[in-house]
Amino acid sequence: MSDRPIAPKEILRDSPRLGSEDRITFRCDSGLDCYNACCRDVSIVLTPYDILRMKAALGLDSSEFLRKYAISPFSKEQKIPAILIKMDPESKRCPFVTEQGCGIYDHRPWACRMYPLGLAEPKQNTAQERGFYFLIREELCHGHGRGPGCTIREWLAEQGIEQYEMMGAPFKDLMLHDFWDREEPLDPKAMEMYFMACYDLDRFRRFVFETRFLELFDLDEARIEAIRSDDADLMDLAMQWLRFSLFREKTMRIKKTVLDARRGAPGEERAGAAPSM
Ligand code: SF4
Ligand code: SF4
Repeated sequence: MSDRPIAPKEILRDSPRLGSEDRITFRCDSGLDCYNACCRDVSIVLTPYDILRMKAALGLDSSEFLRKYAISPFSKEQKIPAILIKMDPESKRCPFVTEQGCGIYDHRPWACRMYPLGLAEPKQNTAQERGFYFLIREELCHGHGRGPGCTIREWLAEQGIEQYEMMGAPFKDLMLHDFWDREEPLDPKAMEMYFMACYDLDRFRRFVFETRFLELFDLDEARIEAIRSDDADLMDLAMQWLRFSLFREKTMRIKKTVLDARRGAPGEERAGAAPSM
């Protein structure tokens, strides 16, 4: 789960490429002298679904979660914001690690579940280029070569990865979109919109219910009720709205009454253009 001593390009070049039926021999338990060593000074990137799970487990609003537990490092090369767990500035420990291990184990993020497996995925699987798993071997981790071993498929099932993949699929699709091949980063307004919709879900909910969003977009009553209380439904809507607003895809329907009222106002209904709230 670390990018500490790992040089990803070299790993991708040198590591054996593994598929789901390949076997790995690895066991992590509290008896090891390295117990919890991997939960320190490490870059854990969080996905929208990671945050949804963690903030619910902690009983926090997403804005509060982000303030307390996340950082969003920014560099000029970065096109979009990424969110990482904020390590303690002095001890460098993850805020969730306890003497007994991960304090949010059942809701730990995807990256922590995967470790020591890495996943390399091309934009599209083709005959020439296919996704593969690889093993991350770090000196600090003494779990390699222990236990009876299992297939990668079994490992992923044990770590509960399937649920994360299913819930994370819309975000993955968003990230793999050709839109991001462009050179320039998002402008500040779009960056803010992206940040809110992906990571600050409770703020996105307020945006939906407290602006003209529902006056503009055609959502049926059942869906409106679902997004009022269900974070997973809200996250789906957030992904749809980002695709509509950023990629100009027709993933959202503007209400006919709004279109009729605007008829004749040039440029207002460009396909996929985000209406102002
Ligand atoms: S979230 Fe849990 S497993 Fe992941 S680094 Fe923190 S303590 Fe370790
Ligand atoms: S075996 Fe590896 S994953 Fe498990 S506690 Fe030790 S360092 Fe962490």
